[in-house]
Amino acid sequence: MPGGTDMTLRPFLWRAERLYPDTEIVSRTSEGIERYTYAEYGDRVCQLANALADLGIEEGDRVGTFCWNHHRHFESYFAAPSMGAQLHTINPLLPAEHIQYIVGNAEDKVLFVDPSLLEALEPAVQSPEFDQVKRYVVMASEVPETDLDAVSYEAFIEGHDTEFDWPDVSQDQPAGMCYTSGTTGKPKGVEYTQQMLWAHTMESLSPQGIPMADDDVVMPVVPMFHVNAWGMPFTATAGGSKQVYPGPSPTPEDLAKLIEEEGVTLTAGVPTVWLGLMDYCKENDVDLSALERVIVGGSAAPKSMIRWFNDQGVEVLHAWGMTEMSPIGSVAHLKSDLEDADDSVKVDKRSKQGLMVPGLEFRVIDDDGEEIDWNGEDFGELWVRGPSVTTEYFARPEANEEDFEDGWLKTGDVVTVDADGYLKIVDRAKDVIKSGGEWISSVELENSIMAHDGVAEATVIGVPHEKWQERPVAFVVPVEGIDEATVEEEVMEMLSEEYPKWWLPDDLVFIAEVPKTATGKFSKKDLRDEYADGDMFEGQAPEEAAPDDD
Ligand code: ADP
Repeated sequence: MPGGTDMTLRPFLWRAERLYPDTEIVSRTSEGIERYTYAEYGDRVCQLANALADLGIEEGDRVGTFCWNHHRHFESYFAAPSMGAQLHTINPLLPAEHIQYIVGNAEDKVLFVDPSLLEALEPAVQSPEFDQVKRYVVMASEVPETDLDAVSYEAFIEGHDTEFDWPDVSQDQPAGMCYTSGTTGKPKGVEYTQQMLWAHTMESLSPQGIPMADDDVVMPVVPMFHVNAWGMPFTATAGGSKQVYPGPSPTPEDLAKLIEEEGVTLTAGVPTVWLGLMDYCKENDVDLSALERVIVGGSAAPKSMIRWFNDQGVEVLHAWGMTEMSPIGSVAHLKSDLEDADDSVKVDKRSKQGLMVPGLEFRVIDDDGEEIDWNGEDFGELWVRGPSVTTEYFARPEANEEDFEDGWLKTGDVVTVDADGYLKIVDRAKDVIKSGGEWISSVELENSIMAHDGVAEATVIGVPHEKWQERPVAFVVPVEGIDEATVEEEVMEMLSEEYPKWWLPDDLVFIAEVPKTATGKFSKKDLRDEYADGDMFEGQAPEEAAPDDD
C-alpha cells in the first residue's frame, strides 16, 4: 500500500487540529485545572515526539505509562504511536510483583509516572526487569522528592520543536499495549496494531457504538490504563469533541463539579463510580442538565442505576468489552422498534450487555460444541472476532491455544442471546473476581492462604456486593485442633504483606470441608450458590477495600 493510506491513528489528530483548533482539552491535575486547545495539544504532541526521538526511542520501542487521566498522559496517546513506537499503559493498582513482570515482559524503554504514583513504583524499579528503562519522566512541571533519577515532563519536552516529521507508519505496526489480569496465571499482554485502534475508533463512532461529535464534551472516568480508557481519547479526538480529564482518583464531588463546570455531555466508567455519583447527587444539589449519556461497563449495570439516571434525563448506555477487544464489544442501545415498549421491557433490554457493535461478529457455543438458539434461555460461551479483536497474546503461545480458535476469541463469558439479539452475561467461566472494575486473582489468593501451616484447604470466591459488584471471601478448612483466631490473624497479615489492600478478602470463613465436584475439584459453584444473595456485606462499610483508594 502506498504511504499514508493505511489505517492509522494520526489522521484523527490531524483532523482535530485542523478542523477544531480552538476546541478545549481540560485536565484536573495535582497542580490544578489545566486548559488548552487542540492546536496547542498538537504542538505539545510534536514536542513530546521530538523529546522521545532524542532519547533514542525508535519504531517498535515501547513507551510505558504509569498514570491517571490527564492531558500529559493524553499527549503520549498520539505521540508514541504516530512516531511508530508503542504506547504501553500500566495499571498502577496491581500487586508490585505483577508490575515488575509486566515492565520486564514488555521491555519498556522509557516510563512516564504520575507524582502520586511514585511511591508505588519506587520499590519495583530496583528489580532487573527495569534495567532497560532509559528515563523516568514525572508527569508534572517539577519533580517531587523521590529516590528515582527522574526528569519532569515539562523539562523533558521543553525547547523541542512543535513540528514533527511523522513517518508513514504501517497499519500492522503495534501502536498500543495493555496487560489483562482477567485471567488465571500471569497477566497477559495484548498488542493493539494501528489498524485495530483505527477500527475500534470507527466502530465506536458509529451510531450503534458510543459516538462522539463536535458538540460533545467527553469525560473518560475509566482509567487511561484500562484499555486506553475504552478508546475514548481516540474516539473523542476523531469526533472533534471537547475532552475533560478528571485526574488522579477523582471523588464523586470532583466528578459532579467537572460535569457542572465543563458541561460534560458524555462520560464513562465502571458501575462503582456511577453509584458513588448517584449517592452524591441524592444528597447534594448537582446540576446534571448538560449530561446526556453515561457509559457503564466493566461490570454489569444495576437496573436501579439505569432507572435513576433515566429519571434525571440521562441515558445510561450499558457496554460490554474486553482488553482483548480494544475493548468495546457490545452496547445496549434500544432498538427503534422497542421505543413504544413498556418501561420495564426497556430497562430490561438496557440492563443486558447489549447489541454487538457494527464490524464485529459473535457466536455462542454450548457445552456440546453447538451454537445456541437466540431464545434468551439457552446459554454458552461467547466467542467474538473482528478487526478490533486480537488473535493472539504477546509472547504467550500456551495461552493462545486456550483462548483462541480459528481466529475467534473465546471470551470466558457465559451468555444468553434473546430474539432481538441482545447479549446477556449469565456466568463467568474464568476463575477471577472483579471488584470496582479491577481484577483479583482468586487462584493467587488461594495459593497464598494454603501456604499457611494451619490451613488444610482454602478457596476464594467473589461474593456479590452492592458497591463493588464483587468482593473476595476466603473459605478455609483449618488443620485439626488448631486455634482458628490465630490462623485468621496470621493469614490476613501474610496476605497484606503480599497484596494491595483492596485484594484482601473481606471475610475469612472457617468451614469443615470445601464442597467438591464429582471429579474431586473444589466446587466454587456450590459456595457461590450459598452466598450469592449478597447479604454477606449488609451493614458493612466497604470503603477500606477500594481499589481506587491509593
Ligand atoms: P474492561 O476494562 O473492559 O473491563 P477486562 O479485559 O479487564 O476489560 O475485562 C473484561 C471482562 O469484564 C469481560 O470478559 C466480562 O467478564 C467483564 N465485563 C466487562 N463488561 C461487563 C459488563 N458490562 N457486564 C458484566 N461483565 C462485564
